[in-house]
Amino acid sequence: MTDLMKTIILNKPGEFAMINRPQPAAPGPGEALVRIARIGVCGTDIHAYCGNQPFFSYPRVLGHELGVEVVTVGAGVTRVRVGDRCAVEPYLSCGTCVACRRGKTNCCVRLQVLGVHCDGGFCQFLLLPQNKLHPSRQLSLEQLALVETLGIGAHAVDRAAPVNNEWALIIGLGPIGLATLQFVIAAGARPIVMESNPRRVEFCRKQLGIQSIVNPAQAPLEQLASITQGELPTTVFDATGNAKSMMAAFQYVASGGKLVLVGLFLGDVTFHDPEFHRREMTLLSSRNSRGQDFQRIIAMVESGQVDTRPWITHRGALSDVPDLFPTWVKPETGVLKAMIEIE
Ligand SMILES: [Zn+2]
Ligand SMILES: [Zn+2]
Repeated sequence: MTDLMKTIILNKPGEFAMINRPQPAAPGPGEALVRIARIGVCGTDIHAYCGNQPFFSYPRVLGHELGVEVVTVGAGVTRVRVGDRCAVEPYLSCGTCVACRRGKTNCCVRLQVLGVHCDGGFCQFLLLPQNKLHPSRQLSLEQLALVETLGIGAHAVDRAAPVNNEWALIIGLGPIGLATLQFVIAAGARPIVMESNPRRVEFCRKQLGIQSIVNPAQAPLEQLASITQGELPTTVFDATGNAKSMMAAFQYVASGGKLVLVGLFLGDVTFHDPEFHRREMTLLSSRNSRGQDFQRIIAMVESGQVDTRPWITHRGALSDVPDLFPTWVKPETGVLKAMIEIE
């Protein structure tokens, strides 16, 4: 008889259930069986719970921000050993499609994201291909669970490739905006952030020492012009996933500048073409991240260049998810990042 494992399944929007499922089989060649220890909760999970996540079907086991420990390995596994702690790259790519052949595994045509297109980590064990595991000797399981979120920001900044001292605006200071901000700073660009939530503004000022903070409700274009001596930021990242914000962002870009849409929403984005052309603006989307981003980020967290510990505002055990989740989705709870722990 196979052993069972605790699993939290999202049956439909707003309805979690605790079930027992068979544990995964022994790992095949190139695979590893991992124990899930920490799971970060992100906007994707919240949208799935609320029923407004694009490309989503139910029932689904959520969880794609994972800190794991290797339990057993299959034949030919050399990348990880039993007992290794790893971050998980949850983007299962086919390796053969037009995007994969050009190294863009993050937007594989047949992409299966754990916890989105296929069942993820709100459970005790998972079977994963070894190349999706990124080990670290130094980082805690909690730090490893945050590598995926950081990857979203790292990739967004790679897309725009800002250079030294240019003004880069980040709109929306949730975890994705914060991750983007970290890599804007690492790239040597000068950050401006736009955020209305006073708690997040305070966090940004105190924890990260950011000086240029724009309130979107108070003539943001004028504020941006005054910070940049009338030139406007040459790179703008929208990390809100809010249609109004995304469309307003087109106005904030300097002539010759770039706009990166990091957040997404379920609908159309429109813009005024003459303004877009006058500025010869470059419009980019950014989706997920790539394997090499995980390695680079782990090295940055190990060296202390990026510190994600202050991001975690709420914690809970896996079995408490059905009770805790409805409170975490309420804005007044003030969740920046919730972390689920499995002992
Ligand atoms: Zn996420
Ligand atoms: Zn592919």
